[in-house]
Amino acid sequence: MKAKDPGTTGIVLLDDDPFMLKLLTQMLAQLGYTRVTACDSGQKALTQVRETREVVDLIFLDINMPGMDGVEFIRRLVECQYGGSVILVSGENSRILESVEKLIGAHRLIALGCLQKPVKPDELARLMSTLKPNIGPRRLAHVSQQSYSGEQLRAAIAGGQLVNHYQPKVDMATGAVVGLECLVRWQHPEDGLIFPDRFLGLAEEQGLLTQITTVVLTEAMKQAKAWWEAGHHLPVAVNISMDDLIALDFPDLAVALAASIGVNPQLLTLELTEGQVMRQLSTVLDVLSRLSLKRFRLSIDDFGTGHSSLAQLRDLPFDELKVDRGFVHGACADGTREAICRASLQMAHQLQMKVVGEGIEDRDDWNFLSQLGCDVGQGYFISRPMPAAEVGDWIGTWGARTCVTRLLIA
Ligand code: C2E
Ligand code: MG
Ligand code: MG
Repeated sequence: MKAKDPGTTGIVLLDDDPFMLKLLTQMLAQLGYTRVTACDSGQKALTQVRETREVVDLIFLDINMPGMDGVEFIRRLVECQYGGSVILVSGENSRILESVEKLIGAHRLIALGCLQKPVKPDELARLMSTLKPNIGPRRLAHVSQQSYSGEQLRAAIAGGQLVNHYQPKVDMATGAVVGLECLVRWQHPEDGLIFPDRFLGLAEEQGLLTQITTVVLTEAMKQAKAWWEAGHHLPVAVNISMDDLIALDFPDLAVALAASIGVNPQLLTLELTEGQVMRQLSTVLDVLSRLSLKRFRLSIDDFGTGHSSLAQLRDLPFDELKVDRGFVHGACADGTREAICRASLQMAHQLQMKVVGEGIEDRDDWNFLSQLGCDVGQGYFISRPMPAAEVGDWIGTWGARTCVTRLLIA
């Protein structure tokens, strides 16, 4: 993607210091950036992001502000589905800047970098040269995203418009395909393929998550059985929701479904996020223990974004831990991400769990994680999610690719 033309780049400056706002506005003008809005409070900046018609590509954020501080501002920014980049500005030491930058990564916002006050013109110019326009799935809601009603989603579920795509997981030592993660999409008749971040929130609000799990799990089980019968040992991972985890009869439903389809529960992994597990721990523990007894594999997803401690994880019957992609991509060039990957791996291995690195986007990510001893890799570098019908061909191409470039798995 090309860097954006300065004249059309929308920028918001957020700082409680009027002198700083003036100074940054002037420095940016010298670089050709003229669409700059200065805000002296988090509230004003959020209004600018949410309510103006113009797309905001970049926010300069002072993390120490009276009232709404930088951390709270980031949380509110995520709620408005901001899809642009953030540059942190602070007089604080670089440790604090790094941890806030990590928080931005965990929320999947784009952190372009940090600037120490007083800001140096050459550092600002260097960061600005890496700016990309606001695109991404978090594009501002008013720009292009149409929202759907509960009725429409209900009709889509009943009409069979939810489809499963599958993303391969591969053994990082041998390159062997060890399974696939099932990711739901809505095949909308007019709007095309719609990604889960656009309808799962609505599903939750409308109490439709368990219905979605049933549809997705049923299809995934049928698919795992079909691959098995075709001679491929390809376990399938399905994401389950909080609503499933707090339903004490979910394990019974899952077992009955597997029996009616004729698939071994061992071919299914159920993925749940760290945040889900820590809510209502006692019910979740009951459900998870029973799922594990019934031989479903359990995986903890998006690890690193929640608040679980080692002790809490030790008591839960997980077979696998997935390090969140916010910590994986770019870990080789970022001390904090590297430390998180390393610590997660060590901890999971001590607890006899397999580790999956998600969000492996390039060769650097692959090499780095494979050197750290990560068991399984998943990400665009290996493959994007695809319809089940394309998986057979992909496996052939992947086999050839790992053979030709032995380096990949050296
Ligand atoms: P997740 O379970 O963590 O799934 C991984 C997400 O990361 C997927 O997004 C996948 O397409 C994306 N991804 C994979 N590799 C890369 C990469 O290299 N770089 C980047 N930037 N992204 C990558 P997707 O399909 O949009 O799903 C988003 C989330 O929606 C999932 O996160 C999961 O929490 C949820 N989800 C998906 N399908 C289901 C479902 O059937 N049921 C429930 N309850 N949740 C689901
Ligand atoms: Mg997942
Ligand atoms: Mg994940």
